[in-house]
Amino acid sequence: MFDIDIKNLLIESIEWHFIGEIVVRTAIMFLMILLVLRLSGKRGVRQLTLFEVAIILGLGSAAGDPMFQEDIPIFHALVVFAVVMAIYKTLTWLASKSLSVHRILEGKEMAVVENGVFSIKNEKDNDFSTVEFFAELRNQSIEHLGQIRTAILETDGTISVLFYADHEVKFGLPLFPEAYQEADLSSCNDTLACMHCGCIQQRDTVIQNPTCTRCRHDKWAIALNTKRTV
Ligand SMILES: [Zn+2]
Repeated sequence: MFDIDIKNLLIESIEWHFIGEIVVRTAIMFLMILLVLRLSGKRGVRQLTLFEVAIILGLGSAAGDPMFQEDIPIFHALVVFAVVMAIYKTLTWLASKSLSVHRILEGKEMAVVENGVFSIKNEKDNDFSTVEFFAELRNQSIEHLGQIRTAILETDGTISVLFYADHEVKFGLPLFPEAYQEADLSSCNDTLACMHCGCIQQRDTVIQNPTCTRCRHDKWAIALNTKRTV
């Protein structure tokens, strides 16, 4: 049923005279992509907003086909490049003039940690995964949420953090796996942090009512209050 002739699939139908043309076409398109991306004014691609990803997808699909399809003239791809760049430049210009256009294109930054706990109203939006977020915060050498006054998720996916001064650090939810463990309430005698929202409670309160009053989850980890600079 699936009697596929691999040799036929890979090389039999090759038009050898076209291979040289593919090399030239690919080189031209590759240089065009580089040139267009340079003209876009972007300095790097470490973090892209969704708008920029859309632009790159548009350029990429227009560039790919003429590389190896004999019947597609490279000129067609150049027209696509010109149109995509014109749209990009126009929308970027509009976004620089109007905050609402900017927000439609790039989304809106949002607070994800406020006063040492996860920002619940945003969490309901499901715009970020807590797990991903833990990694981002760990990357900034943050041991627990009690060190953070405010953390903002920027539209390019990066996180900006403002810290408490050392003497202001409070108890917070641990972010590193060895400490982010459900506490055994019968044996521990510590301050606890809700594993979902970071809300802080004393052990006695949690034993009376294990449900977090903020987020309605019921798993608790032992909170930390270590300072950033020890
Ligand atoms: Zn909670």
